[in-house]
Amino acid sequence: MVTRFMESLGQKQAEFASAIHRYESGPGYARFGHLVAIGNMLLPLVLLALGNAADTSWAWHVLLFGGAYFAADFINGFAHLLMDNHERYRGILGPIVANFHLHHARIKYAPRPIWAVYYLESRSKIWLLAVQLISLGLVTVLPTTATLFVAYFALLSCFAEVSHYACHTLTGPWIERLGRWRVILPKTHHHRHHALDNVNYAFLNGLSDPILNVIARHFFAGYKTRSDLHASAHENAPPV
Ligand SMILES: [Zn+2]
Ligand SMILES: [Zn+2]
Repeated sequence: MVTRFMESLGQKQAEFASAIHRYESGPGYARFGHLVAIGNMLLPLVLLALGNAADTSWAWHVLLFGGAYFAADFINGFAHLLMDNHERYRGILGPIVANFHLHHARIKYAPRPIWAVYYLESRSKIWLLAVQLISLGLVTVLPTTATLFVAYFALLSCFAEVSHYACHTLTGPWIERLGRWRVILPKTHHHRHHALDNVNYAFLNGLSDPILNVIARHFFAGYKTRSDLHASAHENAPPV
């Protein structure tokens, strides 16, 4: 049993190393990432314009923004859960999965301006670009409130990456306060994701974690004895 586990671990580590090599050796994945980030930056503005944001009442904006805050916390947390539990490194998406797994091995971010974090971290959100492109295609049939909801959802999904950056990298009374108010991710709450296994995947403000933790407990095996071990050879890699 242990021998079989070690054999399969060795094979997965080799597949992981090969996938990371593919990710880092050519310009293809980097260029694709920038395309995704540009789309994720610009499309919310297009959707806000097409959703007639200026003609919508403040009450609707507040309602949509509040709903999008919770939805972004939950859906981004769920995408994080799926990725942390994914262990196929072959195929065209394999290098993207492997690179994602480094967020546990390379726990520290390089200090950067907030706008740069917002842009650079949205490079991995291929699914968010797809959601926005589909919404754009359906813009003539969707209610304007739905279009605005997707725009806010996309903005907050990218902001979730800033929240995660702040949680790991920034300090000070305002960071603590915003975490306590659940505007951003509280440090002690998120620390459990890295210290324990298969918990607290949300990373905008963590309010949807009680739901995500139930889903994780029932349907997923976690990362400490799987994807974390596949990426362990890169543990001391420099921050991205
Ligand atoms: Zn994770
Ligand atoms: Zn983290």
